Amino acid sequence: MDGWKGKLIFLDLSKEKVKVEPLDRDFAQLFLGGRGFSSKLIFDLYDVSVEDPFSPENLVCICPGLLTGTLAPTSGRFEIGVARSPLTGLFCDGNAGGAFGPELRYAGYDGIVITGSSEKPVYLHVEDSHVELKDAGHLWGKDVWDTTDILRSELGDEEFKVLTIGPAGENRDATCAVLCDYTRAVAGGGVGAVLGAKKLKAIAVRGTGEISLADPSEFEAVAVELHEAIRKAPFYRQLSRYGTPILVSIFSHLGALPSYDWQTGVFKEADKISGETLVSKYSVKSKACFGCPIHCSHFYLVREGEYAGTMGEGPEYEALGGFGSRCGVSNMPALLYINNLCNRLGLDVIQASSSIGLAMHLWQDKILGLEDTGGLSLEWGNHQAIIELLKQMASRKGFGEILADGALKAARKIARIKGLPEEKLEYYVIHTKGYAHSNVELRGSKGIALAYGVATRGGDHLRGHATQERYASLGLYKKPEDWVMVGVPLEIAKAWYERNALDPKSPTGKALLVIYNENLFAVADALGICKFATSWQNLPFGPEYMAKLVTAATGIKYDWRKILECGERIYNVEKALQVRYGCRRTHDYVPQRFFKEPLPEGPRKGEVLKREEYDRMLDEYYEARGWTKEGIPTREKLESLRLKEVSDDLERRGIL
Ligand code: SF4
Repeated sequence: MDGWKGKLIFLDLSKEKVKVEPLDRDFAQLFLGGRGFSSKLIFDLYDVSVEDPFSPENLVCICPGLLTGTLAPTSGRFEIGVARSPLTGLFCDGNAGGAFGPELRYAGYDGIVITGSSEKPVYLHVEDSHVELKDAGHLWGKDVWDTTDILRSELGDEEFKVLTIGPAGENRDATCAVLCDYTRAVAGGGVGAVLGAKKLKAIAVRGTGEISLADPSEFEAVAVELHEAIRKAPFYRQLSRYGTPILVSIFSHLGALPSYDWQTGVFKEADKISGETLVSKYSVKSKACFGCPIHCSHFYLVREGEYAGTMGEGPEYEALGGFGSRCGVSNMPALLYINNLCNRLGLDVIQASSSIGLAMHLWQDKILGLEDTGGLSLEWGNHQAIIELLKQMASRKGFGEILADGALKAARKIARIKGLPEEKLEYYVIHTKGYAHSNVELRGSKGIALAYGVATRGGDHLRGHATQERYASLGLYKKPEDWVMVGVPLEIAKAWYERNALDPKSPTGKALLVIYNENLFAVADALGICKFATSWQNLPFGPEYMAKLVTAATGIKYDWRKILECGERIYNVEKALQVRYGCRRTHDYVPQRFFKEPLPEGPRKGEVLKREEYDRMLDEYYEARGWTKEGIPTREKLESLRLKEVSDDLERRGIL
């Protein structure tokens, strides 16, 4: 089976059984790998009547992509999907780079499907064909970094790649992450807490096999050409030098850096937490995931002051924006320390900072006081309080116990404790489908707002985030042909201009941008490549390169249309999953605050979303997707994507 490894591991923790099963070839061709595999396996195998995310029946799928571990640039990624997220109560997923995904492929597997629940802590030891559950009693309670070191030392090989939860996952903190390579986090709506409930502490993998390709010379030629195209792209240097922290300056320049829990887009001390400051003062050297020419990450070191000695990797923009401008912190060493702490405890910086940002906002509005927080003052900018809260959240102690359920549930719980209407505090929370938003301003960016609203896993930047309208408004692209250099098929770019889709002030054509991104990102996640290498970050890894690489890997002919159709298929499966849980049109709206609170200052002063425009964009989006006005995929659409069994399932449930 050229391209794929042809095997899946099925792990039943209740029965302590490991089974290796062959991969179905038709399934593989339709869903490619990674996110495609995990989403469809969850659709097929999960009983939706099981509502408790911590039930043994909950299902977790860990799948590297079809190109993971190959010469294709940025091909280090793998996906983790969870049938019931403890954060949202819905299907959720996430992915990460590093080198765990490639190692799993070298060991011989296209995925691991996990069900059941162990009575005692265990870890999974995978070494080529040897797959064994082992006792992890001595690892329980250890943080991510210590667990990784202990397992590598015990297994006697530094080349083992370790995927692990930290104390946050063990204690069922819904804002937790699962980490590999010490710092590469898969958020996934608290999937780490599900692994914690299953008592699966870690997976340690070592593989020495190869990936068989149908046409190795052609694959190599395309991969080398693409590596060069990425390095030559005009925007490569900026991303390579600064990584995502460059967004602090860009958003600040636009007056769109979410600050003080989204009360303004202006953070006066943005330069202190910018990518430029990170690189000039704290970065020691850059760092890459497997096979990545971009190396957007940094090793950092704090040499002096309160946080002297802090050493780590990252941080992503979301750590700087989330704990920085959102919480009013302008102390970069503190943010680097907090980034390390999240990695060690196994916390997701987006969800954890959302909970804490909410608490600080409620403190500002005098809804919370010292009597509620156990004596912690939650003034904006209090980084010592943030550090204490993160420790409390990961151990579910003190006031952190409330925040550990995620911002939305925390708001409801605080309302009950304070005797306030739940709606009053829910209004504060910037979330969609229970998933707190990443730190991106939506007011003044209509396409980006739509992307956050309709995102299948909840409001975030990794589903369909329409950066195109931002780049066009900065004057980076002027005509359809300009988009071809970042891998967008000309036919698609022309349609954007015909519909005036790139004007952030116009509501027309946004569906085209969002759907293109959603389908492209779904394929990127299915192939195991990094979205930063695509047009999303002005780089050229587009559907045509994807098609050439998949064709050379598998020997099966794909063109860019077929590649994007795979993305559309995956997206429809995810939508059907959420529809099966009860999601409808009402779940595809971004938070009320964006409709009611205009930005108060800066270049975007007065910007606010309009409900009628959002309604129109949503109608246009559903129509372009071939879904009903309630956001339900139709039988016709599903069957056109060879998803008859999905439409039959929805019909059996009375949804179609
Ligand atoms: S661009 Fe950054 S996150 Fe993406 S694969 Fe490269 S180093 Fe990893």
